[in-house]
Amino acid sequence: MDSVSGVKSNPEIQEVVDSITLVDHHVHGALKTTLSRVQFEEVMTESDRARRPGTTNFDTQLGLAIRRWCAPLLDLDVFVEAETYLARRTELGADDVNRRLLRAAQLDTILVDTGFAAEDLLDVDEMRVYSGAKSYEVVRLEEVAEDVVRAGTTAEGFAEAFKMALHDRLSRGAVATKSIAAYRFGLNVPHERPLARDVSLAMGRWLAHVQESGTIRIDDPVLLSFLLWSGVDEQLPVQIHTGYGDSDLDLLRSNPVHLTDFLRMVEPLGTAVVLLHCYPYHREAAYLAQMFPNVYFDIGEGISHSGVQSRQLIAESFEIAPFYKQLYSSDGWGLAEFHFLGSRLWRNGVTDVLSGWVDQGDCNLVDAVRVLSMVGRANAIQLYNLDILKLGNEFTGGSVEP
Ligand SMILES: [Zn+2]
Repeated sequence: MDSVSGVKSNPEIQEVVDSITLVDHHVHGALKTTLSRVQFEEVMTESDRARRPGTTNFDTQLGLAIRRWCAPLLDLDVFVEAETYLARRTELGADDVNRRLLRAAQLDTILVDTGFAAEDLLDVDEMRVYSGAKSYEVVRLEEVAEDVVRAGTTAEGFAEAFKMALHDRLSRGAVATKSIAAYRFGLNVPHERPLARDVSLAMGRWLAHVQESGTIRIDDPVLLSFLLWSGVDEQLPVQIHTGYGDSDLDLLRSNPVHLTDFLRMVEPLGTAVVLLHCYPYHREAAYLAQMFPNVYFDIGEGISHSGVQSRQLIAESFEIAPFYKQLYSSDGWGLAEFHFLGSRLWRNGVTDVLSGWVDQGDCNLVDAVRVLSMVGRANAIQLYNLDILKLGNEFTGGSVEP
């Protein structure tokens, strides 16, 4: 196929891109239920605000990409109207749609963040069955802390109870931790490891607030910093949400450059820090990935939300970061369209970008294929030790097929 941008696809690159199975190193489950049009359109955007009447979230790059690339997977023509697409989606049902789209993403392994709205989503095992990929859990630090509070703790006992709970969760086969400090406060949380006394004091204040408000939502900067450092101490890669996210977030304070001092302090300990999503700060993330040996990044959900324009984003992600520091992720959540489009659009974009390099004589074919294999799978396999994890995780077909 010729590339979407009009750049002539290099056939050898195209062949590798078409056949490579990706490691999607940060996703969430797909929703288990069949969705109404209103529900579907809500999940299409990160905004939780009402739209102006008469508008639709299909009038976006994501909407175009769904009609272009997902429609044929539901046996429809490309560019069918949104209404027809959604009617077919309902007719097939969530199970069939999830299976079709997740399979079409051609994934080798997925790492699933289980920390948000987990009861409505396919879990780690279900995602494995539906996608046909190996799957492992990413444990969200804030969720573990909130569970510890729900179970009952004291200001002085929290730190120890949290460390034990985290260790226990990770011991069940998890491959990474994840911080959403960007959502709860910003990445300008205190960067030094908090003193035990400061953690107790902050916890005392927060427990009083929980009592008063009746809601458990950890947003104290000292506690968020403590959670981050606890993740570092576990010596598994720590994924950190940066950039693009929902309307809870202050985008300026989710710029990963806020983490610079933290990254300097973590560096001698050797724990890897993975900057997630990053858009529109993917260039800042690429800079940090070049500076610090333990820092990695992806361009996550920016890919599906920018649709055909993601080729520019993908091209920019290949500017200054070493090729061995970038990972592939769809950040798929809720709609299996996201899991599929992340993969489809990344494949399209990377074909364009690398074909351009090769055709203009700036890169040879062997190196171009090596670069796409590194970002598409090899970097993640090495970072998360996926090749030495216990077997028994492969999809086996037969009775477990949904
Ligand atoms: Zn995510």
